[in-house]
Amino acid sequence: MNDLNPTLQPVFDEILARNPGENEFHQATRELLDSLAPVVARHPEYTDAAIIRRVCEPERQIIFRVPWVDDAGQVQLNRGFRVEFNSALGPYKGGLRFHPSVYLGIVKFLGFEQIFKNALTGMPIGGGKGGSDFDPKGRSDAEVMRFCQSFMTELYRHIGEYTDVPAGDIGVGGREIGYLFGQYKRITNRYESGVLTGKGLGWGGSLVRTEATGYGTVYFAQEILRARGQSLEGRTVIVSGSGNVAIYAAQKATALGATVVACSDSGGYVVDEKGLDLELLKDVKEVRRERLTAYADARESAHHVAGGSVWDVPCDIALPCATQNELDKSHALALVRNGCTVVAEGANMPCTPDAVQVFAKAGVAFAPGKAANAGGVATSALEMQQNASRDSWSFAHTEQRLEEIMIGIHARCLETADAYGSPGNYVDGANIAGFVQVADAMLALGVI
Ligand code: NDP
Repeated sequence: MNDLNPTLQPVFDEILARNPGENEFHQATRELLDSLAPVVARHPEYTDAAIIRRVCEPERQIIFRVPWVDDAGQVQLNRGFRVEFNSALGPYKGGLRFHPSVYLGIVKFLGFEQIFKNALTGMPIGGGKGGSDFDPKGRSDAEVMRFCQSFMTELYRHIGEYTDVPAGDIGVGGREIGYLFGQYKRITNRYESGVLTGKGLGWGGSLVRTEATGYGTVYFAQEILRARGQSLEGRTVIVSGSGNVAIYAAQKATALGATVVACSDSGGYVVDEKGLDLELLKDVKEVRRERLTAYADARESAHHVAGGSVWDVPCDIALPCATQNELDKSHALALVRNGCTVVAEGANMPCTPDAVQVFAKAGVAFAPGKAANAGGVATSALEMQQNASRDSWSFAHTEQRLEEIMIGIHARCLETADAYGSPGNYVDGANIAGFVQVADAMLALGVI
C-alpha cells in the first residue's frame, strides 16, 4: 500500500482510532483517501472546513433489537442497523442487507461507498445503508415475514420519502421489500410509495429495477470496451454469485453477444461451456431458491465444482457480483494469466486492494463498484421519480435512461481521471468525481 499524503494520513489515523475492529470500513475509507491527494492540493478549502473528516463520520447510526418468533414458536433474536451516512445531496439512499456476516463495520463500508456512488449518478440522493445479521436461508416465507415486520417496527420511525429511502441488497429482494412495505404502511397509515424502492410492479415498483444493477454493470463494461475500440460480441465472460446482480449481468452480457461460461454461489461454481441457460438459472435461484448443484444436475453441458475459485475459469471479462473481498491477489493473478482484460465490479468492493494492484500492473481495465454498479441505485431514483409523479414508465424508456446514466458515469470517470492527472484510472476518476460533488454541497450547506 502506498503512503498517504501528510494531510490525509492524520485523517486515516483518526478513522482507525474512532472505529476499531471495522476492517471493511477501514478498507473503503482508505481506498477513497488513496485517490484524494491531488484533490486536497487543488482545494485547500476542503481541508479548512474539515470536509474529509466529516464525510468519514456518519451523520447518524441506528442499532436496534429485532426479536421474532420462528415456526416452532421459539423466540429468535437478531440485530438491526441503519447507518444514515450523508445527506448533503438528498435523502439517505441505500439498500438493506440480511446476511449472518452483517455487523456495523460492513454496514458502514457499504454506506460510505454509497455516498459517492449516488453522487456519481447525478441524482439528488444522499448515502446510507442498513441490514441485519438475520439469515433468510432455510427460513419459511412466514418466518421471513415475521422478521421483516419486527425489523420495520423499529426502522419505520427513522425513514420516509424525504428522509431515508431503503432498498434491497444481499438477502433482500422483492419478497422482503413487500413485507417491509406492508408493515410500514400498516404502522404509519400512509401509502407512501417513495419510502422504499425495489417494490413489486403492481404496487409502485419500477420496470427495470430488478435488472438494473446487473444490466448497468454490463453497460459500463461495454463502455470500457468501446473506449478501446472493442465490443462484447464473441467475448467470454464470468460472473461470480448467482443472485440478483449476477443473473441480470449474465442476461445483458448474453444479449450483447458474449458467452457467460460460469457463475458461483457460496457452495462452489458451475461451468457451462455452451453459455449459461438463464431461464434454468432463474428457476433454480429465484423460484426454487436452490443451490447451483441443481443447475448442473439439470444441464448436460454444465458441471459443478464444489468450493474452489470461479476465477480459475478462463475468460476475457470478469464481473464479480457476489460479495466484498471475494477476489484476492491470487485470483487476480489467475485472471491475468488466463488473458482477462476487463474487470467490472457488480458487487460492492469484491476485489481486495492487492487484487486491484495486480490489475493495474497488468494493464487490465478495472471499474470499481461505486461506478460500475451504480445502475441499481440510479434506477431506484427513477422509481422515486415515478412515485412522486404517480406515473409509471415503459421498460424501453426506463432502460434507455439507465443506459444513458451508465454512459454518463463512465465518461465522467474518465474526464475526472484526466483532469486530476491519472488518465484511464477508473478508481481515481470515480472517487474524485463523487467526492468533489459531495464536498462542494457540504461546503455550501455550512458546518452541520
Ligand atoms: P443476492 O443475495 O441476490 O445474491 C448474492 C449472491 O452472492 C448469491 O449467489 C450468494 O450465494 C453469493 N454470495 C454471497 N456471499 C457470498 C460469499 N461469502 N461467498 C460466495 N458467494 C457469496 O445479492 P445481490 O445480487 O443483490 O448483491 C450482490 C452484490 O451486489 C453485493 O455486494 C451487493 O452489495 C451488490 N449490489 C447490489 C445491488 C442490488 O441492486 N441488488 C446494487 C449495487 C450493488 P449464496 O446464495 O450461496 O449465499
